[in-house]
Amino acid sequence: MCLLHLTITLGEPWPDLLPSAQVLLRAQEELLDYSGIGISVLEMSHRSADFTKILHGAETLLRELLHVPDGYRVMFLQGGGSGQFSAVPMNLIGLKPGRSADYIVTGTWSAKAAKEAEKYGNVNVIHPRLDSYTKVPDPSSWTLSPSASYVYYCCNETVHGVEFNFTPDTKDVVLVSDMSSNFLSRPVDVSKFGLIFAGAQKNVGCAGVTVVIVREDLLGNALRECPVILDYQVQAGNNSLYNTPPCFSIYIMGLVLEWIKTEGGIKVMEQLNLEKSSMIYDIINASNGFYSCPVEPPCRSRMNVPFRVGRRDGDKVLEKRFLDGASKLGMMSLKGHRSVGGVRASLYNAVTVEDARALARYMERFLKEHQPAGGV
Ligand SMILES: *Cc1c(COP(=O)(O)O)cnc(C)c1O
Repeated sequence: MCLLHLTITLGEPWPDLLPSAQVLLRAQEELLDYSGIGISVLEMSHRSADFTKILHGAETLLRELLHVPDGYRVMFLQGGGSGQFSAVPMNLIGLKPGRSADYIVTGTWSAKAAKEAEKYGNVNVIHPRLDSYTKVPDPSSWTLSPSASYVYYCCNETVHGVEFNFTPDTKDVVLVSDMSSNFLSRPVDVSKFGLIFAGAQKNVGCAGVTVVIVREDLLGNALRECPVILDYQVQAGNNSLYNTPPCFSIYIMGLVLEWIKTEGGIKVMEQLNLEKSSMIYDIINASNGFYSCPVEPPCRSRMNVPFRVGRRDGDKVLEKRFLDGASKLGMMSLKGHRSVGGVRASLYNAVTVEDARALARYMERFLKEHQPAGGV
């Protein structure tokens, strides 16, 4: 939902409330008195009947929206996406003797996950960074090991803007995916996965809760040294209530899920995300090199569009002018990640088509005003 720092908002009145405002207003209305019970969700016991309803409600909605099959457990945990970088190997790398896992590395986040997993076993990195992350390597070039306990990939690399547009076929090897930044942005066939996780704060809520969907038969394989709060069997066995869960974040996620359902579900989100991202990529493609996105077209993310302004490696002066101008129009957080620079448009579910159109218009105007006479 990118509730605070990632929403593109505009300094003009809107005919309809923005998605984030719909959720925030509902939370505001219910803040002091949740559903007539006289107290706030912030004050409830996590074992109360009222919170149990909130927790079940969120899980039920998530299962419905994503068509989670029977035989999968849904957990709401703490520790963020980064916590799962540790939890995944600690729970799954011991599935087979030899403690090994294959990691397909396509950007910052999968690289971090692979590095963390190296503490717990043998990690075979597919596509280590040679110069930069600009694509998903062709699956025919992957050297997957049949004896790996699992294959791991990041479905959408938030910093580099590289997104998988297919689900890897790993034969009988368990497939694990970090979907933190494109969760519920497009349909996913959960049955192809052993485990999916997603921190809520990018696309389905606010910071504090991480969704973990895991196939039941994979539970119970944690390494001895796995901390109990990261042990999937313990957490699943206690319905995410082994210890106090992030109650308010789960409640907010429930409201976001309700909003997605009201809008028509994940297929509708996908159409909107396609429309929004195409608008931006079309302008980049037609700009004669004034704007450039380093990512190869089939792997370009619908969620995060990184681009440079003025030159392929970015004209610092023009990029600053671009960001300052955007900021004056109320478009926030367009600055590229500090590790790569440039500009990045994050087009999460809560960003509307109108928001994306406003950015597209601004890009066109900026191009007209700054394009060198003879092209770039
Ligand atoms: C943001 C992000 C993470 C890290 O999430 P934290 O909750 O900050 O630990 C992991 N993976 C991806 C793809 C992300 O975008």
